[in-house]
Amino acid sequence: MKVLKFGGTSVGSAQRMKDVAKLICDGRKKIVVLSAMSGTTNTLVEISDYLYKKNPVSANEVINHLDAKYQQVIDELYQKEATKQQARETLKTNFDLLRSFTKSAIFTLFEEKSILSQGELMSTAMVNLYLQEQGVKSVLLPALEYMRIDKNGEPDSAYIREHLQKELAKLPDNTEIYITQGFICRNAYNEVDNLQRGGSDYTASLVGAAVKAEEIQIWTDIDGMHNNDPRFVEGTKPVAKLNFEEAAELAYFGAKILHPTCIQPAKLEGIPVRLLNTMDPQAPGTLISNEMIRHEIKAVAAKDNITVIKIKSGRMLLAYGFLRKVFECFESNKTSIDMITTSEVGVSITIDNTKHLDEIVNELKKFGTVSIDKDMVIICVAGDMDSENVGFQAKVVNALAEVPVRMISYGGSNYNVSFVVKAGDKVRALQALSSHLFN
Ligand code: ADP
Ligand code: ASP
Ligand code: MG
Repeated sequence: MKVLKFGGTSVGSAQRMKDVAKLICDGRKKIVVLSAMSGTTNTLVEISDYLYKKNPVSANEVINHLDAKYQQVIDELYQKEATKQQARETLKTNFDLLRSFTKSAIFTLFEEKSILSQGELMSTAMVNLYLQEQGVKSVLLPALEYMRIDKNGEPDSAYIREHLQKELAKLPDNTEIYITQGFICRNAYNEVDNLQRGGSDYTASLVGAAVKAEEIQIWTDIDGMHNNDPRFVEGTKPVAKLNFEEAAELAYFGAKILHPTCIQPAKLEGIPVRLLNTMDPQAPGTLISNEMIRHEIKAVAAKDNITVIKIKSGRMLLAYGFLRKVFECFESNKTSIDMITTSEVGVSITIDNTKHLDEIVNELKKFGTVSIDKDMVIICVAGDMDSENVGFQAKVVNALAEVPVRMISYGGSNYNVSFVVKAGDKVRALQALSSHLFN
């Protein structure tokens, strides 16, 4: 069985939903993961912001606007008046829930997560109803019954596998299409939660791994992983094949087409992931698998909002246990490190989560002189970076000859070389890399 995920733009209007329906109806059994219609999750975040700020009037205005948009989609999507009525009734439950929060005095993270889950609940209900109206054997596979994260916010794979199988077993055998919600899940306390923004890709990969799918397809608005970020560089091209490691590096370091952690479950089960374009279904896209194409630099990505912390200590760096003490500061403050470079007198570390920055800096000051650079960016170049490929890293470094580079990391894996530059230099660094490496 294949698992196909369609992102927000792919279900962004009545017409797009019809296009998706056409794409998925080929008589073969499949699980289809859907995101919320594009813009919906942002609107739900906006509603929550107003409610946090105790401004129910503005929250209501935004809800009414969203409701009107969905009513229009209903009118355009369905043929029969009876189906339109059924869709209106279904969505009324979602909008009633949204409106109920504007009448309540309490608004916490718990209510916010419930609000954020409404987008995927609505898009899946609408597409499922459309397929049924078209006579397709389609059913809803409720993500809140099988998708779960543990106390650390990590997916609970054993739970997901067991409960997904149970849910599938409850549904009719002759089902052709199982429609399920991306992004949403329950947490260890059984509350509604989510897999973080962009997390529908992660749902697809977790579902694919749980059912040992033959392939996971991520359908989006572009023809695969491009060799650079198309939002900042002109003339980027799709990469035909990527290895799991290369794709994971690119996703983690900012290639928005994939959720940062979504490669891991597919890689563990050895399930190929294909990135495809809903607007151009015939385009070959990108195939991500175990296969490694040697001697090639594949693509560049950039991760924003990076903070660099430097600890200088000539006295202690070479002493046993110095790095352990440094790392323990990050561990005790639940902050993960992205990149690290060392010299005899200092160590530079990057983080993307600054929630505990003050505590970390205070603790690190026990071990040396600490300085901070905010507003930095990690630029990641992925490909076959085996040290046997003489000159590869030189080519990459040369491309950045005109850009001030704060840190360079090479040799951590065979798949990437990464740089830290100032946010203001990001676009010119990306452009320079494209013109030197790919043109
Ligand atoms: P979806 O809503 O389908 O999940 P996303 O907006 O999350 O889609 O991801 C697709 C977008 O990712 C593209 O429209 C593109 O602007 C952006 N993107 C960033 N880097 C890359 C890259 N290297 N290759 C392709 N797309 C990229
Ligand atoms: N709808 C969610 C978001 O906008 C999840 C997703 O689209 O992947 O972040
Ligand atoms: Mg996405």
